[in-house]
Amino acid sequence: MAAQQPVRVDRERAALIVVDMQPDFMEGGALATVGGSEVVEPIGRLMAAGRFQHIAATQDWHPAGHISFASSHEGREPFEVIELYGHDQVLWPDHCVQGSTGAALHERLPWDRAAVIVRKGEDPAVDSYSGFRNNWNADGERPATGLAGYLRDRGVHDVFLCGLARDFCVKWSAEDAAEAGFNTYVLWDLTRPVDTSNDDGVRSDLTDAGVHVTDSVALA
Ligand SMILES: [Zn+2]
Repeated sequence: MAAQQPVRVDRERAALIVVDMQPDFMEGGALATVGGSEVVEPIGRLMAAGRFQHIAATQDWHPAGHISFASSHEGREPFEVIELYGHDQVLWPDHCVQGSTGAALHERLPWDRAAVIVRKGEDPAVDSYSGFRNNWNADGERPATGLAGYLRDRGVHDVFLCGLARDFCVKWSAEDAAEAGFNTYVLWDLTRPVDTSNDDGVRSDLTDAGVHVTDSVALA
């Protein structure tokens, strides 16, 4: 691969968004990504490095019986896709149930560096991949979480995303950040997918959405 263009981080105007670094998305967890635990240490170093004045995190946080769980739908298996409110909904294994060990923020990351933690997926009837907006609800809307407003109020222009899962919550968060007007980067090497066969499509969808795909080594 060609050497990456250096990306300058303007410390005052840039936010790092750490997506869903929770045990359920790591090996042995309820909804494991491929190699999710590999990004714990490098994300921890980046959070601690002082390169970003603003650090936000997201936490998938579902009530038991959440609509995104296959177990909530008679006769359905995890990873089947159903139509929900006119859109595709992947049915997941039960994961990130509020208060469970698998839903906790990973114990080896320096959360004291994060100024805000946005919990998502709390509405029993609506999924939420993105840290910025829920998935579609019964009214065909995607209600905001408030993260975009928070970042704007803090003077943030550039957002850098890392975490899990590359093909769902990181992707949707990045696309929403770009749509909300932020200059948006995904730190690809600090993400891991549920399904590696999604990688090419994720990359092209991000690029089409105006998101810059780069790696943490390119940060200058
Ligand atoms: Zn979830």
